[in-house]
Amino acid sequence: MTRVFNFSAGPAALPTEVLEIAQAEMLDYQGRGLSVMEMSHRSDEFIAIAAQAEQDCRDLLALSDDYAVLFLQGGATGQFAAVPMNLLGDKKSADYVSTGSWSKKAIAEAKRYCNVNVVASSEATNFDRIPPRAEWKLDPNAAYVHFCSNETIGGVEFFENPDVGAVPLVADMSSNLLSRPMDLTRYGVVYSGAQKNIGPAGIVVVIVRRDLFGRARKDIPSLFDYKLADENDSMYNTPPTYAWYLSGLVFKWLKRQGGVHAIGEVNRKKAATLYRAIDTSNFYRCPVLAEHRSTMNVVFTLADARLDDEFVAGADARGLLNLKGHRSVGGIRASLYNAVPQAGVDALVDYMSSFENEHA
Ligand code: PMP
Repeated sequence: MTRVFNFSAGPAALPTEVLEIAQAEMLDYQGRGLSVMEMSHRSDEFIAIAAQAEQDCRDLLALSDDYAVLFLQGGATGQFAAVPMNLLGDKKSADYVSTGSWSKKAIAEAKRYCNVNVVASSEATNFDRIPPRAEWKLDPNAAYVHFCSNETIGGVEFFENPDVGAVPLVADMSSNLLSRPMDLTRYGVVYSGAQKNIGPAGIVVVIVRRDLFGRARKDIPSLFDYKLADENDSMYNTPPTYAWYLSGLVFKWLKRQGGVHAIGEVNRKKAATLYRAIDTSNFYRCPVLAEHRSTMNVVFTLADARLDDEFVAGADARGLLNLKGHRSVGGIRASLYNAVPQAGVDALVDYMSSFENEHA
């Protein structure tokens, strides 16, 4: 059996070792004679799996008990609504930074619940950068400030935690949580769909500073209520048990790699390898300003967009999969999440060089 190098933006590559453990435990979880998929979420076995996953996630992110770590459903898209529903309290507006497609989706959803002030945007330059913090027009009375720490489609990443004073800071970290060390004590709420650096699709990790409980609107659907989820250990209803279990295996794997510091170094090198290949060629081009280029999602274009399909097909034939850019922007995108090894990036760079030699 050959495993390809998978550059998918999500659902994305999972560590082979994790899939092997899941395979070995598939029919008979630790001598219990059944699969994790077949267990009651109220069983001692599953409660232990869930608690261990939460603990490993807390350890990796260095989270204290001031924060609840929730494993919920509805994806990051569900959180676009859950955030305003939980945090507005008696306030009428929230501040949003717009750095690309995912910020815009979060903004559109929040508008259903409150007045949204777009306090900074890089749309005028086609989302090629992060607007400098000094230019954000923040409202001290906003319920919270929301931004997307890594734009999965545009390939733009925040490398600093913005200082927004006393207003709670909220981040959509779907595509860079756990990719490097981050100081989460600066945040009120952080959320991340699992299907990049955490596990399979179907679960979203939501980290909430507990002092923000109690601000939810009265008519919030129970399933979206952070406080209720916390009181019920994320089991107010049946959770996606298998996705939770697999996420737990990924957390253990990440610990074995040395945690977020070690993986952050690996990720930095992978991205540097690919951006160097792009920048030293006259054939490939990255549209994002150098200091804001994502380490997770590397976007680039070819000198002639008519060659995109041939580039992707040739890559496919070499076992380099899912390099087509998002349908909304075109071009090429290589997602370099934690489970993509340096060897995958090296193989991609080799291929890019031979493709350039043939077509330049
Ligand atoms: N935010 C970001 C940054 C994403 O990359 C994605 C999915 N690719 C989403 C939100 C939406 O996530 P979901 O499809 O899990 O709702």
